[in-house]
Amino acid sequence: MAEHTKNYIAGEWLEGVSDVENRNPSDLSDVIGHFAQADEAQLNRALDAAREAQIEWASYGLERRQNVLMAIGNEMMARAEELGRLLSREEGKPLAEGKGEVFRAGQFFTYYAAEVLRQIGDTADSVRPNIEIDVRREPVGTVAIVSPWNFPTATASWKIAPALAFGNAVIWKPANITPASAVALTEIISRQDIPKGLFNLVMGSGSSIGQKLVESTGINAVSFTGSVPVGRQVAAAAATNFTKIQLEMGSKNALAVMDDADLDLAVACALNGAFGGTGQKCTASSRLIVHDAIHDAFVEKLVAGAEAMVVDNALKEGTQLGPVVSGEQLQGNLDYVALAKEEGCDLLTGGGRLERATEGFYMAPTVFAGTSNAMRVNREEMFAPIACVIKVGSYDEALATVNDTSFGLTSGIMTRSLARANHFRRNAKTGCVMVNLPTAGTDYHVPFGGRGESSYGPREQGTYAQEFYTTVKTAYIASGTPE
Ligand code: NAP
Ligand code: MG
Repeated sequence: MAEHTKNYIAGEWLEGVSDVENRNPSDLSDVIGHFAQADEAQLNRALDAAREAQIEWASYGLERRQNVLMAIGNEMMARAEELGRLLSREEGKPLAEGKGEVFRAGQFFTYYAAEVLRQIGDTADSVRPNIEIDVRREPVGTVAIVSPWNFPTATASWKIAPALAFGNAVIWKPANITPASAVALTEIISRQDIPKGLFNLVMGSGSSIGQKLVESTGINAVSFTGSVPVGRQVAAAAATNFTKIQLEMGSKNALAVMDDADLDLAVACALNGAFGGTGQKCTASSRLIVHDAIHDAFVEKLVAGAEAMVVDNALKEGTQLGPVVSGEQLQGNLDYVALAKEEGCDLLTGGGRLERATEGFYMAPTVFAGTSNAMRVNREEMFAPIACVIKVGSYDEALATVNDTSFGLTSGIMTRSLARANHFRRNAKTGCVMVNLPTAGTDYHVPFGGRGESSYGPREQGTYAQEFYTTVKTAYIASGTPE
């Protein structure tokens, strides 16, 4: 195990200059390991190695590159149980979600394995005689990947897989709070047929090594998923060097529940969207915008559903809600509960820390009613198992409320009316729209991203990812005049 707590730099597993302790948020007595922290010299070594390795990787035959991605994906899917357990142990999501995440991460690799072959460009005739034009995509070069803790394996994989598929080298800085999943994925990648230095794992805190990485002129692009304030810093650093950027940040997603909704389905979607992953999802339904005519019945069932949820150790059979990821995150959540009360919201259930057989950061799923969209709890991302119900009098008011936010990742509507569903789908100002589905839960073969403060730069996932991971070359070829 000791070997598997190191950084992977220039094709070697290296000790750090210091290390961080990784504890299980479901059981604070369980230490998962001590993980190496890289310094600037090691980062520079990774950057130098990546530059060389990328050239070799891009010259591999397409099928050789495809085989690498396929092998990574297949191994992750085959080991989803084992790696999912490790993920759940360090992040705190229930075992089924941990396994599901690793399996999905594997699917990103097998999907992009196929994309390796789809390197198809355009041709054109020049406006000048005897000249033809060839337009094709080339790798951007070295891509910095900075990822968050809430989907430690999936988020990283939906960046790493296209980065490699399109011929790039990678420097990965994972969230320091979930390093074990990062090392596990790196270990799989390290055993593949890739040039030394093509893929580098550089662990350390965001403010030190993360900042150094995104400021470096040794990278050509940075794909970041995390919070808005850090996203702004990444954007500022990248702009200085004209580094290409892709930012996926926070959100304040709303689920609109109309008077003609299937009540039980609406409650199930709200519970799933608001409390899945302990509310720590960028796609979480933290605003529940409910039509007056269905409000009381909806709220009654929502509260009953929240109270029936099993909150416990993520690794325990039957757990539906694991702990919050850290003590700091839990304190932040409790501060939001206090703020909601100050702002005049009615606490209907939850609101506090829970004790379980193992000491962990457990919090009860929390529902506030009587909230208004102007309140801070409805404007700021909480990233917590807290849902706020906003009562509205009409569909038009619901749509306006959904759109009244600085974010714009996902939104959803619960309705039996096709006309309303279609109107909503066309007019919700979010990157993803869900009809009679939770706001969380997306596929891997289609674009994912948002608007406003939720996203910046080209879309992630599906074929759309090539926009970010490649650069376009336009070649003019003169044939001369035939003899
Ligand atoms: P975060 O604090 O912004 O951190 C994200 C990553 O950035 C971590 O790896 C972090 O490292 C690193 N980082 C921190 N400061 C940095 C700096 N100055 N320069 C470079 N890197 C830096 O976010 P988080 O708390 O991990 O994750 C929660 C946030 O992610 C939420 O806002 C959530 O909405 C968002 N999220 C968005 C999506 C999406 O697709 N839109 C998906 C998942 C999560 P350390 O953690 O090691 O300090
Ligand atoms: Mg953080």
